[in-house]
Amino acid sequence: MDKKTLVFDLDGTLVYTDTESYFFKSGRKKDYEFAEIPGFVRPGAKELLNELEDDFDLALFTAGTQDYAESILDQTSMRKNFKIIKHREDLKREPISEDFPLKEIQKNVFKIENDPKKVLLIEDTPLFCVSRRENCLIIPDFTGHPDEVLHELKRCLKPLKNESDIREGIKKHCSKFLWRPRKSLLG
Ligand SMILES: [Mg+2]
Repeated sequence: MDKKTLVFDLDGTLVYTDTESYFFKSGRKKDYEFAEIPGFVRPGAKELLNELEDDFDLALFTAGTQDYAESILDQTSMRKNFKIIKHREDLKREPISEDFPLKEIQKNVFKIENDPKKVLLIEDTPLFCVSRRENCLIIPDFTGHPDEVLHELKRCLKPLKNESDIREGIKKHCSKFLWRPRKSLLG
């Protein structure tokens, strides 16, 4: 079976950059810094990427700038895991759906892999994939507190390599992280 592509968000999904975080206040050594602001890698992030990269093509799609993303990936040695890196300059304002013309900033993962059976975005911000929600998992955001989210995520992602349609696969294996509207979504 052809490899599928997993597209990861950066901030709040794999890392958190802020002085207002539990890890920073508790004296934990920072994993990186940007513009003198300390940042932390989410527990399990490196293991997750290292374990998935044999079975999937991995991409990164951040709403941050290219400089920001590349600096973090270099400092944390996560750059080697990603075949493709997309950033703020690749975001587009698009209609949310055919019958709902309000435009929102979207991460178009079909520009990375154009077969909808084979691409999945992993995000903490539902709005970024509202127009492609069948190809999206929403995980609780990381704000510098220890959590187990990426361990749970790993268990749901691994079996997707054997699913012919990733959109069906996530319903079976990742139901906890399926896209659901949040009250604040449309303001
Ligand atoms: Mg995010």
